Amino acid sequence: MNTTPSRRALRVHYSDDYAVEKGPETVTKSRLVAEAVRRELPQVRLVAPRPAEIEELSRIHDRSYLDRVFGAQGGSLAVGTWSEPLLRSVLASTGGVRDAVDEALESGRSGSLSSGLHHAGRSYGTGYCTLNGLALGALRALERVPEVGILDLDAHFGGGTADILAADGRVRLADVSVVDFDLWNPSDPKRHLAEIVRQPGRYLRAVDRALSHLKGVAFLLYNAGMDAHGRAGGLEGVDNEVIRERERRVVEWAQRHGVPAAFVLAGGYKWGGLTLEQVAELHLETVRAFAA
Ligand SMILES: [Zn+2]
Repeated sequence: MNTTPSRRALRVHYSDDYAVEKGPETVTKSRLVAEAVRRELPQVRLVAPRPAEIEELSRIHDRSYLDRVFGAQGGSLAVGTWSEPLLRSVLASTGGVRDAVDEALESGRSGSLSSGLHHAGRSYGTGYCTLNGLALGALRALERVPEVGILDLDAHFGGGTADILAADGRVRLADVSVVDFDLWNPSDPKRHLAEIVRQPGRYLRAVDRALSHLKGVAFLLYNAGMDAHGRAGGLEGVDNEVIRERERRVVEWAQRHGVPAAFVLAGGYKWGGLTLEQVAELHLETVRAFAA
């Protein structure tokens, strides 16, 4: 599908509900990314999404699992000990992916400052991921386009996304990782690509292969993890310059092929020695590339 390029400002989904004070980077960093967007990219509009609702979530998760997540007496969340603010965070950031898809279908590009998505499978949450907003976003896009590509450049594989969508013939998955956590079985080579990169000098070529694999899709969902960066939890040698070039190539590819695209933040951690502010600055590279 070719979309008419829009001149309207890039709209990125975020609300203060995304962020909680204490917890893993998954739920704390979006506030800093939002602040950095306001400070450094004033042309970008931050818009609050409609939180995800149980009915739409039952398209991607088993009802019994959702009952556990929403448990009235305190359910179970993969991202931390259950609390009202944490559930609000998960629902807001999951809804943000759906709204980013809607916006990208209208204007060509959008995003959401969401994390904690791609490890969540149909009946489980793991690796800080409770609900799979990528799967929700893909099904949302498929209401309007025939085929969706999910590009997952988080440092870890998106086994949860594959669990929910690998059998769906309308979805193409391209997953480039630097560690083998949550590796899934790419059983259909026409639609599935899962590649692990162990040498930084080969990283961008793997990104190019992933993009080539997605040629022909009518919508791109991009899981823009920063944990591939050597100092954000990933592969030594993948630095700011490589990340900047990665984001440029993704956006350039979408533009060249006329494919509407929506991004989410995904992983990015302090393990490798960065501060949370520096992790947020890395995520800003994605927003900057989409806003360019
Ligand atoms: Zn990750």
